[in-house]
Amino acid sequence: MFLEGKRALVTGSTSGIGLAIARALAGEGAQVILNGFGDEAEIAKLCDELGASHSGADLTDAAQIEAMMEQAGEIDILVNNAGVQHVSPVEDFPVDKWNLIIALNLTAAFHTTRLAVPGMKKKGWGRIINTASAHSKVASPFKSAYNASKHGIAGFTKTVALELAQHGVTANCISPGYVWTPLIEGQIPDTMKARGLSREEVINDVLLVKQATKKFVQPEEVGALAAFLCRDEAQNVNGANWSVDGGWTAE
Ligand code: NAD
Repeated sequence: MFLEGKRALVTGSTSGIGLAIARALAGEGAQVILNGFGDEAEIAKLCDELGASHSGADLTDAAQIEAMMEQAGEIDILVNNAGVQHVSPVEDFPVDKWNLIIALNLTAAFHTTRLAVPGMKKKGWGRIINTASAHSKVASPFKSAYNASKHGIAGFTKTVALELAQHGVTANCISPGYVWTPLIEGQIPDTMKARGLSREEVINDVLLVKQATKKFVQPEEVGALAAFLCRDEAQNVNGANWSVDGGWTAE
């Protein structure tokens, strides 16, 4: 188990992709700190399963991020994964939803990164992995805030990669296509409304239309890539933006 002795903080890991990444890292021996919302008993069960601890910090609040990082101590692996979506035409896009998406999907990663980097530099080893999206490379209509946040995190990741390249620390993005998680399920009703489509049409004609495989990505596939990026063999994989999108952005 190549991650024994490493501490990993995975944000937004009580569900979906983050949970799969946490499982993959814990499976290689990392001491994992989970973060995210959810049912207390379910989260306690996850902590038991993974030998993990949990922070319920709301990452839209810089003070809560600072408290979480303080409590977490020195982190070897930082996975910025927490994210939300909202689907709406730009002229109707609720301002509070715009602010929430930018705060969680982009600004939270700036805060966790700036707080984790000094410890990584001191040790001369670190891994920063940001869950971006196919929407960090291409856009879809009605997702203005999400596309802006994900293009933003891709640029942020490249900058961090360059700054830390001589300190044994890498920073990379993983950019999934559509992965069946509560985030996707939640956007179906608004997409039906924005595009005037049925549920079935949204799944086949919107979500999977560009995914060349015509299948959803599995969260475990993203987890496996995150674990690979933590290997010493991946020390020269830096500033990259890895697509796991069934060929979507190849077109
Ligand atoms: P999800 O809804 O299953 O999980 C989101 C996680 O973030 C949960 O643990 C939730 O509790 C946590 N969270 C939400 N608001 C938070 C807050 N304010 N503070 C702290 N934690 C908070 O979603 P998912 O699909 O697993 O998405 C995870 C990441 O993957 C997101 O960044 C998303 O943009 C990205 N992504 C998802 C897909 C997809 O198809 N599902 C595709 C590409 C990228």
